[in-house]
Amino acid sequence: MPASIDAQSYYQASAHSFPQQPRLKSDLRADICIIGAGFTGLSAALELAEAGYKVIVLEAREIGYGASGRNGGQICTGFSPGQQRIEAQLGKEDAIKCFAIAEEAKKLIVERIAKYKIDCDLKWGYLHVIPKPSQFEGLREWKNEWDALGYADTQILNKSELDERLGTRIYHGALREGRAGHFHPLNYCLGLAKAAIAAGTQIFENSVVLNIESGPVVTARTAQGSVRAKFMIIGCNAYIGKLVSKLYGRIMPVTSYIIATEPLGENRAKSLIRDNDAVATTNFIVDYFRLTRDSRLLFGGRASYSTLEPPNLGAYMRPRMLSVFPGLKDVKIDHAWGGYIAITSNRIPDCGRLEPNIYYAHGYSGQGVALAGMYGKLMAECVKGQAERFDLLARVKHLPFPGGPIRTPMLVAAMLFYRIRDALS
Ligand SMILES: Cc1cc2nc3c(=O)[nH]c(=O)nc-3n(C[C@H](O)[C@H](O)[C@H](O)COP(=O)(O)OP(=O)(O)OC[C@H]3O[C@@H](n4cnc5c(N)ncnc54)[C@H](O)[C@@H]3O)c2cc1C
Repeated sequence: MPASIDAQSYYQASAHSFPQQPRLKSDLRADICIIGAGFTGLSAALELAEAGYKVIVLEAREIGYGASGRNGGQICTGFSPGQQRIEAQLGKEDAIKCFAIAEEAKKLIVERIAKYKIDCDLKWGYLHVIPKPSQFEGLREWKNEWDALGYADTQILNKSELDERLGTRIYHGALREGRAGHFHPLNYCLGLAKAAIAAGTQIFENSVVLNIESGPVVTARTAQGSVRAKFMIIGCNAYIGKLVSKLYGRIMPVTSYIIATEPLGENRAKSLIRDNDAVATTNFIVDYFRLTRDSRLLFGGRASYSTLEPPNLGAYMRPRMLSVFPGLKDVKIDHAWGGYIAITSNRIPDCGRLEPNIYYAHGYSGQGVALAGMYGKLMAECVKGQAERFDLLARVKHLPFPGGPIRTPMLVAAMLFYRIRDALS
């Protein structure tokens, strides 16, 4: 049976057990109603519940069903389009503050893992590899930019230094970061949920919010119940559908696919990625890969802007993996799955208020593993009365995507453009 985007992922197969949460079947009151149980929503829930608020989270499927439970697990630094894009919008001083927020996002993960004893295979070390020799100068510029921001523990590797670390010869150098890395995202997400519940949050699963009514008291309605609250936080990201058409227009869902090999054994796994770093190409259409706790190679990429799913994801992704590691021809693919990444037109996350008491954050553009938790925390800060940092990020301007029938063809064309650019650069 060909694997589908919703097939059981490696993460689901290796997730810690977690009790199913009830479906919403009554009309409840809360201080804050949060829609979406991913990193964004759960992070906000945890902060607010710990501060003593009554928090209810409504999740359409199960905790971590969205991108948070199915991503590459790569914990990245900064923002997807790079610091210059932020600077162009906000000016140098405020862009530096944004970088500090992104740095705090990684620290938040470390703190939460320690505080709530979340077992999620955290490993530091990240290689940004270049597929073309001509991209080497770009690595230097990138390092200089980070040096200027005071972001240390980065190192440029030439081809021979990189070849010692990876079991492939196709890349021409890398920028290595010691303060970025990878983890098991679903187990981290479940850890956040457990901590949020322990702090008093109620989470309802299989509770799709069908509509939202605004006003001094906001209401979220599901098929069998409702939540009335003083504040609402929307953390639905690429999975929002048409719940709030204004938000749907501000992001574009892009599909990304991942495969996980069978366990390779420690030595063979080490021969692929010597130091167990996360690896990603610097292309616009990124290949990303890393090892798992049980020595599998997890290989992702091949973004698609069309919603058409390839008939067999494993067969679709395997040649891509073999183009990097041809020695894996004999290796079985145990899991293949996909998920939707929300991108914005400028690839900077989009956040703001729909109404004075309805906050949203989304569009992390492939870099939300760390950032989503931080935006969740910043929305919690707003509810607690401290909106300065959220308002700074909310100043970033975004062009909405066109709606209607040209939406998808336009993105398919854009994708083709970037593929050609990657090939020619
Ligand atoms: C395949 C893939 C690979 C990725 N790799 C990386 C990576 O390596 N590094 C990185 O930094 N980022 C990566 N990302 C992006 C990252 O996973 C996301 O940015 C991040 O998880 C977003 O978290 P979130 O909580 O905002 O959204 P999500 O985790 O998507 O959660 C949204 C939730 O809202 C729920 N929802 C939607 N509508 C409703 C409704 N009407 N009612 C109730 N609930 C609703 C959904 O069911 C879902 O669970 C990847 C994403 C994908 C899909």
